[in-house]
Amino acid sequence: MRFHFIRGNATSENSELDREELTRLQAFNAIFLDVQIAWVAGDMGSAAYALSPAQYASLQVGLALMKARYLRNEMKNVRIQSTRCVRKSQIRDWHERDIVFKVKAEDRRIHLDTGNVVKENLDEFSEVWTFIKQGSLHSDADFNHCPNCGEAVEFKKSPLCPACGVLRNSGQHGWVLSKITQYNEYSFGSSAESKDEATPTTRASA
Ligand SMILES: [Zn+2]
Repeated sequence: MRFHFIRGNATSENSELDREELTRLQAFNAIFLDVQIAWVAGDMGSAAYALSPAQYASLQVGLALMKARYLRNEMKNVRIQSTRCVRKSQIRDWHERDIVFKVKAEDRRIHLDTGNVVKENLDEFSEVWTFIKQGSLHSDADFNHCPNCGEAVEFKKSPLCPACGVLRNSGQHGWVLSKITQYNEYSFGSSAESKDEATPTTRASA
């Protein structure tokens, strides 16, 4: 069985998007797709590097419950239509971003025994993913090197750096997914950008 994923472009409704923010959105896109790949494979292990421990556990439980109902989720032709940040906040040196992914995919629930399609959704859908990170806002789009010691590490095998012992998914050394909210359950009342954080000074020319 093969899954075909199409890498989406990071886009924003904000035309004044600065380069740093764009790199960050691209990193979020990469994480989004890695999470889909792990989910479809039925084991979040390969995406653990980008999931908070609680989020990892929650998704693993979701997979186990689906399996208990003799179902698996097939996602084909996953295409990120747009990625935009709808909330930024900062508490002390912890940063938080709410990111809306608008996605098109062939999303099917398949019965494990019969192979029958139990449910199918071919429509576009949106989800709000909350990412957190401590310390510098710098985007670490490079998931092949330890953000702490620089060692070449295959984080898709384990979130633990064998060289320095850092856990990539602690949020202290890179953005991690802490929460997924369905778009229609998300409260956009707080969508105004937090004033806690200074507006980026470097902006791409319009
Ligand atoms: Zn390291």
